[in-house]
Amino acid sequence: MTRVEPKFCERCGHALVQREVEENHTRPVCPACGFIVYRNPPTAAGVIAERADGKIALVLRGENPGKGLWGLPSGFMEIDETLEQTAQRECLEETGLTVEIGALLGVWSFHHAPKGSSGVLVVYTARVIAGEPRAGSDSVQVKFYALDEIHDEQLAFSTHREALQQWKQKTRAAK
Ligand SMILES: [Zn+2]
Repeated sequence: MTRVEPKFCERCGHALVQREVEENHTRPVCPACGFIVYRNPPTAAGVIAERADGKIALVLRGENPGKGLWGLPSGFMEIDETLEQTAQRECLEETGLTVEIGALLGVWSFHHAPKGSSGVLVVYTARVIAGEPRAGSDSVQVKFYALDEIHDEQLAFSTHREALQQWKQKTRAAK
């Protein structure tokens, strides 16, 4: 999905123009009312959803980006949520599993230059407390993997690869 620059002012409807409003920052500006469009990266949250046997839930993605590859249950934050609520909701929607959110694993920012998209992903550790795995929104399959069964090339996103690397290191250090 390519991000399209807004063309009209959301305040007064006038056509926007590109203008250098700060040094090195060209932004869409409304010449009629002065409104400036600031485009800030969206925030997403996800979980390492661990079952009692130490295996974690991954979802097979049915939609692009990353169609046919695996990922952590994750998604974008809604306006009325906390990050923990986002992580919990996305996990339930994509896997059918209810999780209890644990410690913060880490925060990763991403930037895809060709698409002009960027964002921030916050990953929590979590414990599966209820539910049976079933595919849901964006996912076509849910599967529990042992840590040594997960390989980088199966994963859709570099942020998920890095989060899983960190989780592996933590888990090994704890043994
Ligand atoms: Zn305007």
